[in-house]
Amino acid sequence: MRTYFIEFTYFLASILFILGLRGMSHPESARRGMHLAEFGMLAAIIGTLLNQEIVSYEWIIAGLLLGSTLGAILGVWVPMTAMPQRTAFSHAFGALAASLVGISEYYLHGAHLGEFKMGALGFEVLLGSLTTTGSLVAFAKLQGLMPGAPTTYKGQNVFNLSLLGVTIACFIGLLINPGAAFLFYLMLVLAFIFGILLVLPIGAADMPVVIALLNSYAGLASAATGFAISNNVLIIAGTLDGGSGLILSIVMCKAMNRSITNVLFGAFGSVSETSTAGVDGQMREAELDDVAVRLAYARQAVFVPGYGMAIAQAQHVLRELGETLEERGVTVKYAIHPVAGRMPGHMNVLLAEANVPYSQLYELDHINPDLAATDVAVVIGANDVVNPDARDNPKSPIAGMPILEVDRAKAVVVLKRGKGKGFSGLENPLFYKPNCEMLYGDAKESLTHLVQAVHKA
Ligand code: NAP
Repeated sequence: MRTYFIEFTYFLASILFILGLRGMSHPESARRGMHLAEFGMLAAIIGTLLNQEIVSYEWIIAGLLLGSTLGAILGVWVPMTAMPQRTAFSHAFGALAASLVGISEYYLHGAHLGEFKMGALGFEVLLGSLTTTGSLVAFAKLQGLMPGAPTTYKGQNVFNLSLLGVTIACFIGLLINPGAAFLFYLMLVLAFIFGILLVLPIGAADMPVVIALLNSYAGLASAATGFAISNNVLIIAGTLDGGSGLILSIVMCKAMNRSITNVLFGAFGSVSETSTAGVDGQMREAELDDVAVRLAYARQAVFVPGYGMAIAQAQHVLRELGETLEERGVTVKYAIHPVAGRMPGHMNVLLAEANVPYSQLYELDHINPDLAATDVAVVIGANDVVNPDARDNPKSPIAGMPILEVDRAKAVVVLKRGKGKGFSGLENPLFYKPNCEMLYGDAKESLTHLVQAVHKA
């Protein structure tokens, strides 16, 4: 009876995870999707706690209390702008858990493991270990504890691939002879080292892809754990996590014009040439009142939010500006770049929080053809995602990355604090174009003043 109940909770959890993922595919249903996934996780935990093989609950309860407290603290205190590093941090622990389960299984059953179980366990430990250290390096880079720029050296790709080759050779050796403990622990150490070396050469604009890829690896490691310890919910949840992470990696690759094979082999992201074309001339500073008049009498205005809007928490006042302009008959659209900000969907989340209607959000492919007919494009703390060098300069490190082509608008106003560069550290020729003006200051303050000035215009 108990076994049936446990299997039922796992079945329920799996369905809730799938419905949760489906819900998260659209901003309108994302919150509901998140709640469904939370209930799924609760069902999976309840089912697991009823397992007869549990000998004592003390350590489990201690772990539950500690994990829940840390999770709640992280959830409440970590700001939205630090979400990518928080995600990398969580992946590190998820992957470490998978790895530890694998190590303890090997320690207990080692030489007696069949070929299939050894395969699943080896896969779990290999992926889990490299994801643990890889995620920790990604966390350190994004948190500024390590230089964010790619760390490269001569022969790096050959060295990394050779190391991976030796690690896989240990794995194959274990499949032939599961009792060879030396090979197991060598594979473990090499996988930890490989994780570090995999992420070290990656920096700047490629980091979102890495985070999504590590997410996928952590999921696959959990799925392998499920096979190793015969746990259905781990197999299903891990596969969902691994699959969705991989799909997200591919989508992010497309958004940043990286090739997926390059990403999969880890040999990417090193910036060899930094060349910026078209930065001659001067940046021109705009007068706030002039910008307000231009906006108030525009037929169409397009807002392009970026990381600076998130930093300034300017989404509410941006919505207020949008509404003020609409009251005056201006058509207002919000252009969303898939990697604007610091996490996938960052701008969608912030604008949804500020109650901007979804119907006003336009993705890259839909807004770009409309930009030439736009009277004013207002760039709010965005930089890389509107850098025309990606389109015009084949030598640029971000060449080929799809951008929001605001430079095609009749007029562009950029709201930023000063001459700070974007995440990629590159100069932006947009700011020097004749149709572009700069409105310096914190985005929230500038927008607040603009709302007042538009009322008076
Ligand atoms: P960005 O290129 O990072 O530029 C942000 C700009 O905001 C800066 O130039 C900065 O200039 C300005 N800024 C900062 N604080 C501000 C404030 N309080 N008020 C006004 N402006 C402010 O941003 P983005 O265009 O959104 O591009 C995102 C970048 O992050 C891409 O390179 C992407 O690849 C990368 N990335 C994305 C993700 C993701 O998943 N979305 C994850 C990791 C990395 P000032 O200093 O002059 O103000």
